[in-house]
Amino acid sequence: MPTNNPMTYCDLHIHSSASDGTVPPEELAPLAVKAGLAAIALTDHDTTVGVPAAQAACQKVKLNFVPGIELSVRAPALDENDPGSRLGTLHILGYFIQHDHPDLLTLQQQVQQARHERNPRMIDRLRELGVAIEYEDVLELARSEGALIVGRPHIAQVLVQKGYVKSLHEAFRRYIGQGAPAYIRKDLLPPEEAIRAIHAAKGLAILAHPLQLRLPDFTSLHREIQNLKAAGLDGIEARHTDHTPAHVRQFEQMAKQLNLLTTGGSDFHGARKAIPLGSQKVPYEYYERLRQAAGQ
Ligand code: AMP
Ligand code: ZN
Ligand code: FE
Ligand code: FE
Repeated sequence: MPTNNPMTYCDLHIHSSASDGTVPPEELAPLAVKAGLAAIALTDHDTTVGVPAAQAACQKVKLNFVPGIELSVRAPALDENDPGSRLGTLHILGYFIQHDHPDLLTLQQQVQQARHERNPRMIDRLRELGVAIEYEDVLELARSEGALIVGRPHIAQVLVQKGYVKSLHEAFRRYIGQGAPAYIRKDLLPPEEAIRAIHAAKGLAILAHPLQLRLPDFTSLHREIQNLKAAGLDGIEARHTDHTPAHVRQFEQMAKQLNLLTTGGSDFHGARKAIPLGSQKVPYEYYERLRQAAGQ
């Protein structure tokens, strides 16, 4: 297993078909080997159900594996009294978690319940807009891929299949993206609760793709990250497909100032997004640092 080779990479942000990726968890390991990666983390949205299969497949090919999750939590608002001022999304990554820890499973159930309530409401909104898709078709698509988590990408795909839009991108832009008419929030869980559950499960809590908070400037972002650190946050995702090299430098610097870890990954979703596995070229030492911080 490569360790100190500076040209060795890892990818610490990967979705499988257990959430809204298209690659089954057990098929990630061979793909990662082909991409030249020395370590991967599985970080499905709101579920750890794919962890055992992904882990077993990694063991088979002697690839380092990090059991993980990406939890959707309540985003900060510009004005706490105005829910409409919640601009972006706040995702917390959990790494080296005990995937079956009861606190984490309880929380997964809560978030999954929130999705079950939200999805049909988005379908209702779509119907009001003259877009008549059936929720059953969305569930069927998700089921056919083995997904436990049903999310907007599945809805978007049905919109494409039914000919209402030409691409997933158009589905988000016209209908279900943030700010579009059929978008409904699902982020009710306070971030502190997600961080607490990740820690209970012996994991590290990392702020995913900080730019997606869509805060107006770096000063507000710095303040928000400080707040999250006070709630126990262990690090931030400095390398991500959303980030320019200048962003990466800014986040690395901010992490140093705040004494936080940094991580990185592609946010691979298989065929649903044009992002190749391993495309962030995250140095292997990011994995090593994370592993040591997790005491593994
Ligand atoms: P959900 O968890 O159901 O809110 O859906 C989140 C998923 O939708 C994530 O994989 C996002 O990357 C994806 N997503 C959000 N906005 C867009 C967009 N404008 N275009 C494509 N995918 C998006
Ligand atoms: Zn996703
Ligand atoms: Fe995310
Ligand atoms: Fe993600």
